[in-house]
Amino acid sequence: MKVSEILATSTKAFPSIEIVPPLRGITNEELLESIAPFMEFKPKYINVTSHRDEYEFRQNENGTFSRHLIRNRISETTVCSAIMSKYDVEVVPHLICGGNTKEEIESRLDNLAFLGINNIVALRGDSLTGEKRFTPTPGGYSYASELVEGIRAYQGSNSFRRSRGLETTDRFFCIGVGAYPEKHFEAANIETDIQNLKKKIDAGADYIITQMFFDNKVYYNFVERCRAAGITVPIIPGLKPLSTARQLSLLPEAFSIDIPVELTSEIARVHTDKNAVYQLGTEWCAMQCKDLIAHGAPAVHFYTMGKSDNISQILRECF
Ligand code: FAD
Repeated sequence: MKVSEILATSTKAFPSIEIVPPLRGITNEELLESIAPFMEFKPKYINVTSHRDEYEFRQNENGTFSRHLIRNRISETTVCSAIMSKYDVEVVPHLICGGNTKEEIESRLDNLAFLGINNIVALRGDSLTGEKRFTPTPGGYSYASELVEGIRAYQGSNSFRRSRGLETTDRFFCIGVGAYPEKHFEAANIETDIQNLKKKIDAGADYIITQMFFDNKVYYNFVERCRAAGITVPIIPGLKPLSTARQLSLLPEAFSIDIPVELTSEIARVHTDKNAVYQLGTEWCAMQCKDLIAHGAPAVHFYTMGKSDNISQILRECF
């Protein structure tokens, strides 16, 4: 089932779970075991993030340079396929512009369609480690809005439609896109960023998932601004429980977000006690989640980042 249909037919907020594919070396069984704790909550779908392989150049003895793979993850399509083989749950792979030519994107779409996966989150992707700014791949897409257009054009091809028995007005892929209630770090201002978000919706995206935030007012204001700008699709809030005191500086740096003073001072009070910090971060997130549900959020998206204990506690308390 498409996420757009799930959103349209759900009578109450539900949790969605995002996982990061493991680095190479982990087995299929280990991967499935790591998501088993979430299955207790019968998630309607699981998002699987997408990452570029990272390389470095090393100098050889003769002075030439050669390229070496230093970091790669199992692909989102492979992880989705593994999840589908074990669990009765929809999968939502992320697809990124970075590192892919338009042809390679098309080939990824072929693989997803082959597996019967018709949900995608379309993103630009981040810059590579050591790269200051995102550099589009030659022959690839520069912005997520272009990727959304590309996905819509793909499913518009006659042969694809024929093979799927689709009418000209049917959409095979349901497309989600990302948004930043505290502004994407490259955008000049929030208004411009929201106009760019609207380009993704106008290109055919069905719904939005936000970057994590720790103050719900930020999300409510953002939704209001999006509605005023003519964005009418569902906007799913994204949450991540803070789990260590170090994240007070790591998360703002990595995601260009603020952490409210109420939370930072609470954490400062107990910062030497790891368990207390973990518990506080979990309780804060549960409090945010309950408030979002009470304010009519359509769903709540959890960035699990490979951790399940705190998320399970929150899901048990809130859903
Ligand atoms: P875009 O929508 O393309 O926007 C990027 C920047 O360009 C913004 O500042 C925007 O204002 C600006 N912009 C957009 N269109 C235009 C235009 N036409 N002209 C000028 N400026 C424009 N990263 C991964 O690598 N893998 C993942 O799986 C992943 N999952 C994510 C899931 C969610 C829900 C979110 C919110 C983020 C995720 N990210 C992921 C991170 C994301 O790739 C980065 O935040 C990236 O820097 C921006 O991606 P985007 O799709 O929002 O980009």
